[in-house]
Amino acid sequence: METVSAATTVWTRDAVKGEKRDLWTAMKRGFRCRCPRCGEGKLFRAFLKTADNCSVCGLDFTPHRADDLPAYLVIVVVGHIVVPAVLWIETNYSPAVWLQLSIYLPLTFFMSLLLLQPVKGGVVGFQWALRMHGFDENAPSDIPPV
Ligand SMILES: [Zn+2]
Repeated sequence: METVSAATTVWTRDAVKGEKRDLWTAMKRGFRCRCPRCGEGKLFRAFLKTADNCSVCGLDFTPHRADDLPAYLVIVVVGHIVVPAVLWIETNYSPAVWLQLSIYLPLTFFMSLLLLQPVKGGVVGFQWALRMHGFDENAPSDIPPV
């Protein structure tokens, strides 16, 4: 029969060995498309491709797993701006459909393009600050990558 250890380790931010990582600072630096650790090096080498590492401090960016989260967040933000505006304008002014589409579609498109890279940077900063995925240098080596 296998015994289960009752001793568990409770994770706290103060118990972590190594450098302190401020969540909001890292997310702000990521939102500015800069390295979440030093705030100087570029985070991206292309529109949504992160660089392999920071050119200033050498932080490895490859462990990030932003995946589709930035796109979902952008949809939420842009949707909460455009949809109420569309409903308010339709309710109060009822302009022609062609006029509405010629404004709302490009507005939605360009707002999404403008927000996507900063939001992805913020997500990478979030993951780095919380030592998610491969950003924890103290993680046990026997945990397989996800
Ligand atoms: Zn850096």
